[in-house]
Amino acid sequence: MYDVIIIGAGPAGMTAALYASRSNLSVLMIERGAPGGQMNNTAEVENYPGFDSILGPELAIKMYESAIRFGVENAYGIVQGITDHGEYKEVCTEDKNYQGKTVIIATGCVHRKLGVKGEEEFAGRGVSYCAVCDGAFFRNKRLIVVGGGDSAVEEAIYLTQFASEVTIVHRRDELRAQKIIQERAFANEKISFIWDSVVEEIKGNDMVVTGVQVRNVKTNEVTEEAAGGVFIYVGLDPLTEPFKASGLTNETGWIPTNEMMETTMPGVYAVGDVREKGLRQITTAVGDGSIAGQQVFDFIETQKDQQAVK
Ligand code: FAD
Ligand code: NAP
Repeated sequence: MYDVIIIGAGPAGMTAALYASRSNLSVLMIERGAPGGQMNNTAEVENYPGFDSILGPELAIKMYESAIRFGVENAYGIVQGITDHGEYKEVCTEDKNYQGKTVIIATGCVHRKLGVKGEEEFAGRGVSYCAVCDGAFFRNKRLIVVGGGDSAVEEAIYLTQFASEVTIVHRRDELRAQKIIQERAFANEKISFIWDSVVEEIKGNDMVVTGVQVRNVKTNEVTEEAAGGVFIYVGLDPLTEPFKASGLTNETGWIPTNEMMETTMPGVYAVGDVREKGLRQITTAVGDGSIAGQQVFDFIETQKDQQAVK
């Protein structure tokens, strides 16, 4: 029986592991791939305090080494679900079951892909899913943003501080984004819109993106738009399938928590990108992880006190 089982070894899970193990708790961290999570797919991180710039995989290794130095145990596995047995929880992978007094879910999310030609080919070479991460690399370039939700419109506004011009391509003639965010975009002289249109192909030369092919869904007219980068914001998918049966997710699949990272199941916490939250970044993931890593200690102490009273 472990004090804590952590599912996912991205920045959120690794920070939770650091805090819990440093409080002398026994910690098992289960990961389905290499530790580091989305940091492993990030070329350069320029907004993690303490580093002017660091490669994502390098930060992943540093965090991992730091996280395991107080005795965290690692296991490879794809978690399939959690069962609540009251005083303990059972976490099952494809081939093994683990028992823990508490569980921290840190499985993150994936950016939804557009699924068009050129998207994969130019990923990291002009195609991006993170303006905060990559925007500064596109100074004085024309950028295309795909999507019409809060993320697309907010990130388009953010990108105007670097880009010469930002064009939002949206499949309808009305944005989904909150009105206040829309108004800011409409008032921004650097932002233009291509309505009722979808990006059909991302084009480039041997090295980088040079433009997109756009089709108007009402007229079927096809145009070529020159651009130095394409930012895709067509939604995020949380990695929460294993936790739906336990009732931990909301109607859109995210895990709601309070600010102590507690879920609806006592002793089960959720941290990082998988949580229902506003800003999904490494900094906010480690912030969540530290809170949950501390909370599990308090939870276990309280359980001990209650058992002593009985
Ligand atoms: P993740 O990093 O997604 O880690 C989750 C881990 O859980 C993964 O390792 C996954 O394999 C594992 N997992 C998932 N499901 C299971 C399962 N069922 N069983 C076992 N393990 C499981 N943020 C910044 O602050 N600065 C940046 O510059 C930056 N650049 C980015 C660039 C890109 C291309 C991307 C995609 C994101 C970027 N981000 C950046 C966002 C940042 O990486 C995320 O906010 C952060 O990694 C979230 O951390 P997390 O620990 O919550 O989740
Ligand atoms: P979202 O709200 O799901 O919006 C996705 C957008 O992409 C929609 O406009 C959708 O078009 C479009 N889209 C989806 N699939 C597409 C495709 N295949 N081709 C072209 N366009 C496609 O996702 P999000 O903007 O990432 O937001 C996710 C959640 O985070 C939301 O709940 C949002 O409110 C929240 N969020 C909040 C804030 C904030 O409060 N400041 C900021 C960012 C995100 P349609 O409109 O036609 O469906």
